[in-house]
Amino acid sequence: MISLDAAELARRIHAREVSSVEVTRAHLQRIEAVDGPSDGSAGPDGVHAFLHVDADGALAAAEAADRAIAEGGPVSPLAGVPVALKDNLTTTDMPTTCASRILDGWRPPYDATVVARLRAAGLVPLGKTNLDEFAMGSSTENSAFGPTRNPWDLTRVPGGSGGGSSASVAAGEAPLALGSDTGGSIRQPGAVTGTVGVKPTYGTVSRYGLVAFSSSLDQIGPCARSVLDAALLHEVVGGHDRCDQTSVNAPLPPVVEAALAGARGDLAGVRVGVVGELSGEGYQPGVLAAFTDAVRTLGELGAEVVEVSCPSFSYALPAYYLIAPSEASSNLARFDAMRYGLRVGDDGERSTDEVMSLTREAGFGAEVKRRIMIGTHALSAGSYDALYGKAQKARTLIVRDFTAAFETCDVLVSPTTPTTAFAIGERVDDPLAMYLADLCTIPANLAGNAALSVPCGTSPDDGLPVGLQVMAPALADDRAYRVAAAYETARSSTPDAAPRIPELRALETTR
Ligand code: GLN
Repeated sequence: MISLDAAELARRIHAREVSSVEVTRAHLQRIEAVDGPSDGSAGPDGVHAFLHVDADGALAAAEAADRAIAEGGPVSPLAGVPVALKDNLTTTDMPTTCASRILDGWRPPYDATVVARLRAAGLVPLGKTNLDEFAMGSSTENSAFGPTRNPWDLTRVPGGSGGGSSASVAAGEAPLALGSDTGGSIRQPGAVTGTVGVKPTYGTVSRYGLVAFSSSLDQIGPCARSVLDAALLHEVVGGHDRCDQTSVNAPLPPVVEAALAGARGDLAGVRVGVVGELSGEGYQPGVLAAFTDAVRTLGELGAEVVEVSCPSFSYALPAYYLIAPSEASSNLARFDAMRYGLRVGDDGERSTDEVMSLTREAGFGAEVKRRIMIGTHALSAGSYDALYGKAQKARTLIVRDFTAAFETCDVLVSPTTPTTAFAIGERVDDPLAMYLADLCTIPANLAGNAALSVPCGTSPDDGLPVGLQVMAPALADDRAYRVAAAYETARSSTPDAAPRIPELRALETTR
């Protein structure tokens, strides 16, 4: 049961061949078998995708879904299917920690819109997944509760910041998960764990109840093992929400229809642009080999493949690492020791400022502090024009590169990441090396358009998963889904198609 796609699980649950309770139990057992304790104390003996598992809540939701199905009324296409939630989404019945000590003991008073929509559609939340603290990072090592491990190789990172969500899907602990993508945190972990990850067009999935990191970049999206599953989840959570001021009031692109059409059809007439700037030096040869193979497959499917140049993409990383920390330095000001969770040194003697300072000192990790300092500096009067203002200009140039490229291409493609999953510990002392993991994913966040990552086999040099990134214009998410689904179907019939769920025998038998 843990290896079936969400679409197939839903079909069996709705046909009453199996109950949602049975499916939920199977996933809870899998979590028990491979995840280790939620504080990460199992070390290398656990995937540690989850920070919190709510077995009772999940089984109650599953029972409710089974009841609704038994009553024979209309149910949503994913009713009864379990789902994991990145722990920066607010939930009333589970803690929300953002993998930070500063939120110790905080219980959100409301559900994020996406969580409320999942519940209303009868999905079954299993628990909250690990992330880099406040979604700042590319490896999930910045979690205050210990790293998540890549199910393909437990000595490697699962990517980040949403390593927990992608790893839970890759390990068969959840058929579906939600993540958030500010600079790549859904697509990049998707790529290195061999799963699908989608960053929808900015503003098309409500951010209400997503703890803000960089508000002009943050976007919630689905993690899954197939393109169709991602589309099904996308349709449940997407669409206008009056609680989010940046929510786009337009119909959601027909992503499920596109995924189905892609899986059935070819790509005749689709113009695919290969972004010249997103390959070459610094890219792992095995990643480029897998990517080149993928592009060949797109051509064989009938797509017209052309080279395109997006010269301003070379500014994307530096622009992002000014804009994202600037917005973060403002957003994180709310963690003031008064309103949420942790409060340190409140002895009746110390001033508010002292308590705030002691609390932040103890509650924030090193990377979060680094971002707050960089952002505060970039926004200060003496640096604003030279740093923040410049970054915003670079952002405009990147938007123009996309606009020009989409005049001649329907979608753009690149590798999702320059390398496969790196070793735990390898980049923790080198922030710049860590930042490079999001080289290919950041442009779409800066421009706000849609982008996804779909597995494109394994790298011949280390046998680890590689992701193909497909980018589409804003509000044309369906195009990316169509191309990815066609590619996925073609690939799954090749003899070297990688298994969907890696073997975790050592863990499975020790427990
Ligand atoms: N790795 C990037 C960062 O550290 C992106 C994170 C994200 O998308 N949340 O900011």
